[in-house]
Amino acid sequence: MRKAAAITGSPRLQIVGANDPLLAPDEGSPVEWVNQHGRADILLTCEHASNRIPASLNDLGLDSEVLSSHVAWDPGAEGVARHLAQALDAPLILQRFSRLVYDCNRPPEAESAMPVRSEIFDIPGNVDLSDLARQRRVQAIYWPFREAIKRHLDQKVAQGVAPAVITIHSFTPVFYGQQRTVELGLLHDIHPVLADAMLEISSEWTDLDVRRNEPYGPQDHVTHTLRVDAIARGLLNVMIEIRNDLIGCATTQQSMAMRLAGLIAESLKRTASRQRADDYGTAD
Ligand SMILES: [Zn+2]
Repeated sequence: MRKAAAITGSPRLQIVGANDPLLAPDEGSPVEWVNQHGRADILLTCEHASNRIPASLNDLGLDSEVLSSHVAWDPGAEGVARHLAQALDAPLILQRFSRLVYDCNRPPEAESAMPVRSEIFDIPGNVDLSDLARQRRVQAIYWPFREAIKRHLDQKVAQGVAPAVITIHSFTPVFYGQQRTVELGLLHDIHPVLADAMLEISSEWTDLDVRRNEPYGPQDHVTHTLRVDAIARGLLNVMIEIRNDLIGCATTQQSMAMRLAGLIAESLKRTASRQRADDYGTAD
């Protein structure tokens, strides 16, 4: 790692300079668009798609077992999201770096944006981060992701389009030693319209154990993307949490995406028709 000049009077004490990049040029953008010009009135997001750590952070002091676990990312979520983008013809934005570097579903002021501990694991590379080190991650990882979403949605809204914001995640079947029985969580904050519509008809599309705001809910501070990108613009929104043992390979990721695509499309259709009925003051 390149270091800035030593602080005057203390040749051994060095700091990482403000101009030292977190990401090397060959590490690419923190953001990846998939099917960016997809025609559906939907934006898919996947904040925890990757377990990649920038070389400058030396794996955050973690071994490969932890880095490949749910601690570093949402296993399977990226595959499901990519298949959904294709099935729905929807644009998808992926974060290309691990949530342990910066969790893009958290605001910069949240401690959990750069967690010092995740479930039972300490994250050595996140302990005692200076304000400067935190800022570097916010600037390199969080803002490019947030700004890309903002530009996309602002442009759509200016064109008179109101995309539904759907964020795709996965969760571990065992958390703090406890087995979780919920298989699919439909999460919402103060704007439950799309989650309500999906919950109403979920049994027609899947025999999974589907629950509202489980295994997490707004009280767990997991609705940052929903709040800042969707609710603030009055857009339909939902967070989909899939138990990761159900999407462990390409085949199951694809079949999960196909079920979800049907459920999402039908729920959006019903929501739109109710909206039209409301607009005309008639019952659906
Ligand atoms: Zn997640």
